[in-house]
Amino acid sequence: MSIGWPMSWFDEPRLGSVRAAGTAAPARAFGGARSDVPMSQLTTFQVGGPARLLLEPLDPESAAETVRRVRQRGLPVRVLGNGSNLLVSDAGVEGAVIFTDRMRRCIQDEDRIRAWAGTHLVGLVNYAAKVGLSGVEGLIGIPAQVGGAVRMNAGGRWGEIFDVLESVTVCDLETGEVRTLTRSECQPTYRNSNLGNVMVLECVLRLKPGDRKAIAEATKEHLLEKNAVQPVTEPSAGCIFKNPKPDSAGKVIESCGLKGTRIGGIEVSPKHANYFVNVGGGTCDDALRLIELVRDRVRRERGIELQLEVQLW
Ligand SMILES: Cc1cc2nc3c(=O)[nH]c(=O)nc-3n(C[C@H](O)[C@H](O)[C@H](O)COP(=O)(O)OP(=O)(O)OC[C@H]3O[C@@H](n4cnc5c(N)ncnc54)[C@H](O)[C@@H]3O)c2cc1C
Repeated sequence: MSIGWPMSWFDEPRLGSVRAAGTAAPARAFGGARSDVPMSQLTTFQVGGPARLLLEPLDPESAAETVRRVRQRGLPVRVLGNGSNLLVSDAGVEGAVIFTDRMRRCIQDEDRIRAWAGTHLVGLVNYAAKVGLSGVEGLIGIPAQVGGAVRMNAGGRWGEIFDVLESVTVCDLETGEVRTLTRSECQPTYRNSNLGNVMVLECVLRLKPGDRKAIAEATKEHLLEKNAVQPVTEPSAGCIFKNPKPDSAGKVIESCGLKGTRIGGIEVSPKHANYFVNVGGGTCDDALRLIELVRDRVRRERGIELQLEVQLW
């Protein structure tokens, strides 16, 4: 499929007037553009057709410039992080996908860490431990990038990323405007930042100085706990449904006898019923049909209406 303009437009070595802070020198090169990239290769569920145009900025400034250029051309735009909470259509994704994977950086300033959107949580947690800052240990084992984790307000039994977030810098996906919001200007809820139609460019986390050894031990404990109960080695999209509090979606689905139920290549995990795993060749269509089957059974047997946590593209 033709994307309507030369790919070289996105391959310019520099985007617009982006400059490294405080210097006259050009900023880092733009990461580049690719066309027709299978989303099954970029999502942990290993499902999804091609992204027509995949753009990979290298830093927050060039990411914002990329948004503006895409919007000037009237293309729809989506943002992709680690692809760990996504179920992508077998038909693929029209428009542009901005992939943050190459925007990785953590910068410490006393008890704060500024993290770019593409920083993987494992890198952030390890960095915080190295500089002796505590507060993000519970994020270990969540396969996510900082931008996706903020967008989804990722968390677990220990809390959520917004618990330690001081500010977040976003780019409006309609206007390209960049603004920084303090924590008190945000209204995050369970697995939703409620930030609207924006790209998270970077955030500042406020942590507490701590003993490096104790931080490392707490991190290890969180990881062991998580690995014991979740199918972390199989292709999945994390939790399919939000927990219908005070119940857990996994327990509710399990109580309906649905563990191991399979449609095509997608199965309700025998280890944790709120995870669907791709046992080989699973499609988005298989997953959608399994979602409907599970919802229907839970509605009939338990009177509970399960809401999706996984994001549908
Ligand atoms: C094995 C496994 C275990 C998991 N465990 C947990 C857990 O314990 N706790 C938990 O909360 N989640 C968990 N998840 C789900 C997933 O890791 C989180 O939802 C995570 O926050 C998704 O981040 P991501 O970078 O992969 O985002 P993606 O999956 O790439 O995207 C998810 C959504 O965020 C948007 N997005 C991504 N990056 C940005 C950005 N920079 N700006 C704006 N929007 C953006 C996307 O457009 C999409 O709507 C798990 C998933 C798996 C596969």
